[in-house]
Amino acid sequence: LSVARNISILGATGSIGTQTLDVVRLNSEAFNVTALTANKNANLAIEQIREFRPDFVAIADPETAENVKEAVSDLCQIEVGEAALVKAASYPSADIVVAALVGFSCLKPLLAAIGCGKDVAIANKESLVAAGSLVKEALGQSASRLVPVDSEHNSLFQCLQNSKKGVRRVLITASGGPFLHHSKEQLMEVSPNEAVRHPRWDMGAKISIDSATLMNKGLEVIEAAVLFDLPARMIEVLVHPQSLVHGMVEYLDGSTHVVMYEPDMKVAISDALSRLASCSSDKPFHSESLNSGCSFLDFSSGRTLEFIPPDFQRFPCLKLAYRSLEIGGCAPLVLNAANEVAVESYLAEKIGFLQIPMLVEAVLGQYDGQELGSVDDILYRDSWAREQARCWLREYGHSK
Ligand code: NDP
Repeated sequence: LSVARNISILGATGSIGTQTLDVVRLNSEAFNVTALTANKNANLAIEQIREFRPDFVAIADPETAENVKEAVSDLCQIEVGEAALVKAASYPSADIVVAALVGFSCLKPLLAAIGCGKDVAIANKESLVAAGSLVKEALGQSASRLVPVDSEHNSLFQCLQNSKKGVRRVLITASGGPFLHHSKEQLMEVSPNEAVRHPRWDMGAKISIDSATLMNKGLEVIEAAVLFDLPARMIEVLVHPQSLVHGMVEYLDGSTHVVMYEPDMKVAISDALSRLASCSSDKPFHSESLNSGCSFLDFSSGRTLEFIPPDFQRFPCLKLAYRSLEIGGCAPLVLNAANEVAVESYLAEKIGFLQIPMLVEAVLGQYDGQELGSVDDILYRDSWAREQARCWLREYGHSK
């Protein structure tokens, strides 16, 4: 008999969070939602609480928390703010934590989950990028297992788990985003509305802009370096507009292992959940019966697969991410913080699309090579980079 696993979903109202709940809905005998978190989307949080009946809910935003409490305080315990997010991440009955908050807000809850030995399905890339060494150090002192949800890393994880051969390099694919064939002149004019319309994936606004600039791929290169302990030279990016191949591992014997599926995050989410559920020791779990709800690939329909090297000239964010890995220390953190400010400003129409890499490059250039230390150091360095970014904006941004 299989025993259901309790899941705590950090960022339940987001794109990854709602798709995780889709997987839970499809596999209701395998998973219970024991805790969930939201920030500003009160209506969706209320709906989710009514449907999934978690024991504990954390709402980051105080005003939203009041609205949620008013509607459903009789159904679960609801707390507010960062401390509540940390509590959801370390909730005693949770077997698995899904880390799907956006941006830097995920770092403290993630470290809390690892600190108390929870198994973590990690979607949030910014905390790995900004504080990779700290996350690894915490993992070294904990029994936690970390399985990536990001489709590329989950694919690499699947390939690497299934073989003991020597690795020559790993390849991660990029759809190329909505502006793959735009000239530099066209890129100067693209609006946030055009940039958030991703051709293959339905995602949150921040990651959609990152996909359009290829910074998302840059963050993924850093994420892969952290997750798989690889130097930058062993991680390659290929533009693959069909988004059917998600990750490849090239082995020293000349073979390449590939993970392919229709672009649907639920495949990676259910892989991560089933791996974590199966390896938690004492309770039986039948992962073979899990359903991701994804449609199957039809190879007989004559589909073509293209692979193109990325254009670093039109998409300099990718090059900046490699540069930050080469610089090391806090450079990826600085890159990430500057990028978060740049994307926010672009969405608010305070800078143009091509100013995103300009801002990031300017802030990265100010970094003095200081090493990563404690969480406080990271928070300090993060706010330093954001302040540098805001200085740049005051000089070069246009206010609206
Ligand atoms: P969304 O913007 O769709 O969702 C983010 C979630 O975090 C929401 O639940 C949101 O709450 C909550 N949130 C936002 N700001 C805060 C805050 N300051 N404090 C606490 N909670 C907050 O993001 P995605 O789901 O797209 O992405 C989540 C993470 O996963 C990111 O790191 C992204 O890079 C990564 N990822 C996403 C993929 C995707 O396909 N979407 C693919 C691979 C990785 P609310 O909505 O209530 O305001």
